[in-house]
Amino acid sequence: MDTEPPIHIPFNRPWIGSRERTYVAQALEAGWLAGDGPFGQRCAAWLQERFGVRQVLMTPSGTAALELAALLCDLRPGDEVLMPSFTFVSTANAVLRCGARPVFVEIRSDTLNLDESLLDQQATPRTRAVIPVHYAGVGCEMQAILDWARPRGVLVIEDAAQAVNASYRNRPLGSWGDAGVYSFHETKNYSCGEGGALCINRDDWIPRAHILRDKGTNRKQFLRGEVDRYTWHDIGSSFVAAELLMAFLWAQLEQMDELTAKRRTLFERYKEGLADCEKRGDLRLPCWPEHCQPNYHMFYVLTDSESARNALIAHLRRHGIQAVFHYVPLHISPMGRKLGYRAGMLAITERVSSCLLRLPMYAALRKDEQCEVIDAIRQFFGLG
Ligand SMILES: *Cc1c(COP(=O)(O)O)cnc(C)c1O
Repeated sequence: MDTEPPIHIPFNRPWIGSRERTYVAQALEAGWLAGDGPFGQRCAAWLQERFGVRQVLMTPSGTAALELAALLCDLRPGDEVLMPSFTFVSTANAVLRCGARPVFVEIRSDTLNLDESLLDQQATPRTRAVIPVHYAGVGCEMQAILDWARPRGVLVIEDAAQAVNASYRNRPLGSWGDAGVYSFHETKNYSCGEGGALCINRDDWIPRAHILRDKGTNRKQFLRGEVDRYTWHDIGSSFVAAELLMAFLWAQLEQMDELTAKRRTLFERYKEGLADCEKRGDLRLPCWPEHCQPNYHMFYVLTDSESARNALIAHLRRHGIQAVFHYVPLHISPMGRKLGYRAGMLAITERVSSCLLRLPMYAALRKDEQCEVIDAIRQFFGLG
């Protein structure tokens, strides 16, 4: 029997420093545990300021922020929403929950982002919105997407879950669309375990967003002293983030530049260490157009076949290194098939999904660990 060594370089490890512990302790001491406490307010105001967003609302997850955005779009049964199939399930679920239909668009083979040149041929008179997903923290072609969507009255919701602190044409992602969504999940760059934010970039959506987020009530107006009681005004849910998590997140936001610099160093070391593999044609490494400023969220490699990808995962696993792949394209998942999609409909998405591998990439990854990963990959391809 082949026994594998334990994993000593996991795919992800959270960053938990003394600042995180201090702020969580402060929040406990203050005794405010529900949402929109001092830390929650600080996180929202800081994100708003730093990324030039009209209103940021902290949410329990990126998923919740997507659901809130879909409600704000007022999607109705029969409406269609364009999005890539190469994304996390939450992008599509948010739309389906409103009774609308996700329409999957092919991706570009360079950035793996939604191919903006295909929007027109996929649109119908029922197209209500488009959700560009900024994969790996690299921006979609927002200018072209907005130029296409605006004259047609199509709403634009950015799934910037992976793109916090990344920019496109020097303007932060999340600030381009009608709304944008951030995630602070454990696997993202800046995290509190589970968390998210909704960025709203149009004033006319702000009052309703507060109501939908607070169970459909006008509690926000009540807290501001604008009304003498609060009550039910609209559909809603509890899209509010708890204060202890916001205390943890505040520590990470304060360290944003430092955490990003660590990821950049790691990213560049991978790129350099694997450059020969790319030159020989064994691997394709991440790339982006010059007008994108990424946040170094992910380091993926693309092999030339699914069997090579799976063999590389197994090889790394035998060295105690955990590498993972994603996404099962939504259009060929069991749910995608129920929506009428079939394998073969989106060739680039299907090929990328079967050849992509994500390497360990997080601020807590040490240089010696990363060099081990690089050496193991080079050895796999017969390079010393
Ligand atoms: C992480 C992620 C989400 C969901 O965020 P959660 O905070 O985990 O709910 C949505 N879309 C994309 C593209 C993501 O990467």
